[in-house]
Amino acid sequence: MNVRTLITGFPRIGESRELKKAIEDYWSDNLSVEQLKEVSLELKKKNWLYQKQSGIDLISCNDFSFYDQMLDAIVMLGAVPERFKGINDEFQRYFVMARGNKTVKAMEMTKWFNTNYHYIVPELSKDMGFSLNSKKIISEYNEAKVCGINPKINVIGPFTFLGLSKDANGKDCYKYIDKLLPVYCSLIEQLAGLSDEVYVQIEEPIFVKGLGEKMGSEIKKVYEALSTIDDRVKLIVSTYFEHSAEALSYLRDTKVWGVGLDFVYGKKNFDGLNRIKGKKLIAGVVDGRNIWINDISASLALLTGISGHIPKDDIIIATSCSLLHVPYSAVSEPDSNIKKWFSFAYEKVKEVVLLAKLFSGERLSYIDEKMFDANKSIIFEKKKSDIINNPEVSEKLKTVSSWERDGIYSYRIKEQEDILGLPLLPTTTIGSFPQTQELRKLRRDFKTGAVTDVEYKNGIKKYIDECIAFQEEIGLDVLVHGEPERNDMVEYFGERLQGFHFTQNGWVQSYGTRCVKPPVIFGDVNRPAPMTVEWITYAQSKTKRIVKGMLTGPVTILNWSFVRDDMPRSEVSKQIALAIRDEINDLQAAGIKIIQVDEAAFKEGYPIREENVAEYERWAVNNFKFAVSSAMKKTQIHTHMCYSEFNEIVSTIEGMDADVITIETARSANELLNVFRDTGYSRQIGPGVYDIHSPRIPSVEEFSQQIIALLKVLPAKQLWINPDCGLKTRKWQEVRPALKNMVEAVRGIRVT
Ligand code: GLN
Ligand code: ZN
Repeated sequence: MNVRTLITGFPRIGESRELKKAIEDYWSDNLSVEQLKEVSLELKKKNWLYQKQSGIDLISCNDFSFYDQMLDAIVMLGAVPERFKGINDEFQRYFVMARGNKTVKAMEMTKWFNTNYHYIVPELSKDMGFSLNSKKIISEYNEAKVCGINPKINVIGPFTFLGLSKDANGKDCYKYIDKLLPVYCSLIEQLAGLSDEVYVQIEEPIFVKGLGEKMGSEIKKVYEALSTIDDRVKLIVSTYFEHSAEALSYLRDTKVWGVGLDFVYGKKNFDGLNRIKGKKLIAGVVDGRNIWINDISASLALLTGISGHIPKDDIIIATSCSLLHVPYSAVSEPDSNIKKWFSFAYEKVKEVVLLAKLFSGERLSYIDEKMFDANKSIIFEKKKSDIINNPEVSEKLKTVSSWERDGIYSYRIKEQEDILGLPLLPTTTIGSFPQTQELRKLRRDFKTGAVTDVEYKNGIKKYIDECIAFQEEIGLDVLVHGEPERNDMVEYFGERLQGFHFTQNGWVQSYGTRCVKPPVIFGDVNRPAPMTVEWITYAQSKTKRIVKGMLTGPVTILNWSFVRDDMPRSEVSKQIALAIRDEINDLQAAGIKIIQVDEAAFKEGYPIREENVAEYERWAVNNFKFAVSSAMKKTQIHTHMCYSEFNEIVSTIEGMDADVITIETARSANELLNVFRDTGYSRQIGPGVYDIHSPRIPSVEEFSQQIIALLKVLPAKQLWINPDCGLKTRKWQEVRPALKNMVEAVRGIRVT
């Protein structure tokens, strides 16, 4: 028997980020459309041929994208918003939708479920007429055919499309399903004509959010319709990132050929297996979104368990989701102790194929036999490796006597106010100042050894001197050192903590052409030495004003990293919290009176399923509190978060027990602050009055008006005045006048 294999999608940005470079060259007129298309065809071919040569049976097309697969779906469904219709050239229009231009605003972008990938949010309206545009799909299909592949076609499903859309009334867009269904029907009709056997994988990750009965019957209706159009089409409905046991009851009676389930992040999928008897099961057993080697024996056991419900020859082995979320190849990483534990896209493909061979009971070739043996010994050795397990960390955790800081807020804040002696409406910034070319070069040169330790330190100190001098000159109340030593708010700390690893080429797409190289947390996290004290105390030594210490919080460090999978995330986060806790202790011992612990990605870790939210909030809040538990009553703890949707989480935020929180103010300040007022939030808040995402320099008048608006909602004694995020992406020419105006506006208001 031959067990088949499937991959939901492949990375597309290029192993050396070729696509990123080509698109950016095209944007700056250094590459023609034809050349860009050539580069992308080469990348697609490489992906296809690799999968084919490795022995994957169902290989995707239409998983490629010039920007984002949701944006592709918008184009495919003719859901282009009115404001872009004036742009005639389709290719140009596509990028303007993503990025905007001088006259048209870009479409909104947001996080794809609980990943760090961002998609373009469809903007629908009730008079939007959907219509099919299958050009991209057909041409990719044909390209794959030329490579000798009979590709499976990937399409974003109608429910996921609508569930992630918004219209003028908000987010409830399922009402458009009847208008959308005919477009999907025409698509299937068209695809049926391509060959005698056409595999179409409809991606419906939205199902893992759980569904009500109403949605269930809609699902049944839609998939009954789509699965009975043409027998030549083999329809697969795929879900990922969680279980979707509920949806299975509704797909049961349809003619859908196969159902894709994630058994890595959705163990509960087992509960629904009896509902899809008679259909193919695409069993996602190889983790598609983390970078660790698969435990082949464990996956085999999982598959054997599954075959207790679904006949073996109905099982197709797959990754848990698209490989978009992992880098290309671990092989090209430099040698390290942990290199053999990695499995990126290329390696995952091999794992899927090996599993299929083992599961089908096929005689293994010599090479496969060797791969299986190596897998067993790597897994065995990894479990007991002393670079993963650091007894010092558990010893330290045992000695912690309290997980909460001393004193309650209402008393603490008085003590702090007496010591700090700040004026009403204190002014501050969020941490970083503009990162100049010179600074980037200095850090790079230090890494490569081109400058000495002394030269590097002097360079950083010079920048700190300038930041302090500027802040004093314009009269800010609480100063920062400017973060010149940091390339990135997570990487900086990861590089100073044991248990972290940095890949050389582990890029993953974050959005469009933007890629990130997440740190890898492979072992127990430990802080061998202070991480920030030298710079913060240097800055403090240069001024009589108060300098705020600057740290990244445990939840953010966790949410922006690839995290070990042999320990619960909450435990990993606790270890990071311990390190931050010790850093806070050292900072306050060195005389630092205010310490900010950034939790920019606190919200990003929220689980997909409602029923898991309370648990996440509990440990995330507790770990933040643990991180700041070493702070004395008189040490003022700030936190910063990069968003403004606080409606549902104000009480969670209050539970973090920070003294001051600075936040983004994308919506109108009043609306935002009402949420805090209405819930009786009692702590100090700094709603950003300067939008750092724009080069615009607000005038004194504008700042004043904003501050007056804030004062209408919250009393002055609760307010801080600051920009809405760090200034590192701005230019000094913008930041200097903007901050000057901000301080001047506050002064004007203080006297009236
Ligand atoms: N302190 C960080 C900075 O100013 C915060 C960045 C962020 O919130 N993303 O750069
Ligand atoms: Zn921010």
